[in-house]
Amino acid sequence: MIHADGALSRSDSPELPSVLPFSFVPFQKAIMDLFELTRALVDIESVTNNEAVAGEFLFRHLSPLAAKYGGRVERMPVEAQRFNVFASWGKPVVTLSTHMDTVPPFFPLSEDDEFFWGRGACDAKGIMAAMICAAENLLTEGISGLGLLLVVGEERNSAGARVAAQTPRGSRYLINGEPTENKLCMASKGALRFELVAHGQLAHSGYPELGRSAIEALLDVLENIRHLTLPQNSLLGKTTLNIGTVSGGRAPNVVADEARAEIMFRLVGDAAPVREAVHEAVAGRVELREVLYTPVFHFSAFDGMPTSIVAFTTDVPTLHETWGTPFLIGPGSIHVAHTAEERIAKRELRDAVPIYASMVKRLLAAHSAASGKAQ
Ligand SMILES: [Zn+2]
Repeated sequence: MIHADGALSRSDSPELPSVLPFSFVPFQKAIMDLFELTRALVDIESVTNNEAVAGEFLFRHLSPLAAKYGGRVERMPVEAQRFNVFASWGKPVVTLSTHMDTVPPFFPLSEDDEFFWGRGACDAKGIMAAMICAAENLLTEGISGLGLLLVVGEERNSAGARVAAQTPRGSRYLINGEPTENKLCMASKGALRFELVAHGQLAHSGYPELGRSAIEALLDVLENIRHLTLPQNSLLGKTTLNIGTVSGGRAPNVVADEARAEIMFRLVGDAAPVREAVHEAVAGRVELREVLYTPVFHFSAFDGMPTSIVAFTTDVPTLHETWGTPFLIGPGSIHVAHTAEERIAKRELRDAVPIYASMVKRLLAAHSAASGKAQ
């Protein structure tokens, strides 16, 4: 049940320590409303690779809901101690999906009249709570034919989505949740990530001519990459570059024998020209390894809904071939995701529940109309 006023005070929610020991799954009520569920989920630390407590919590939360409405819930193993949670009622024609992991560092819930604050508040635990509540509302209306897929690893390498992609459950439509301010996303930028490793030769810093600095080699290459002219277009705007990490060297008085950097492009079109430009800029001076490529993705439209374009990537390119026609929408703003200011507006969170529920209904209706015609 969702109590739309959400007027529970912090003291009504289960008391949780801010960092949970690995094997401890917090106490949970049998029925939690949207705000209670958001509070509980944000307060569980689930930085990528450490999702087990959150997964267990979700499994236990969804089990009575599965039992009550003739559904089933499963742990979908990904790695030791890491699993997706999948719940379904009837044949899951429409699946609501998002991720349970967050970026580091964890910081616990706080709230004021307007917002829930905390790691994962908008990316994506509030979204997860809204999806679960939407599913619950549909079930109380006697609607079935839906699934909830809550995956691990989205923030790192889509490990959970890759496992789910290999074990489809017959879903025809996939509503993926990421913070889009409740606007339907029409396209998302692609991503291209490289690791650069420079090798040098150790020497006493008083005699640098006897060595070869890996750090200087790396800096030269990065400087050239920073000045590349990158593609742009009218739909997705500019290709952007972030030099995300740089490391190397041993001591101030030693010429560095090794240095590394990780860089990431957000793509607006084909990856080939960017790839080629990077290879040319590097010109064999350092080792270059491509570690991730996600293409630009175009989502399906939905009549009458406000739309947006996003510069982040999601699990959708991994999932859509086996989980159905994809849509992307969720409450919260990507501008505060991954920051120390991460938060979600309570009003937006509440609005998301009927948005998800009505999308599911419309897709179920479209599906049954189409299968009626096919017979
Ligand atoms: Zn996310």
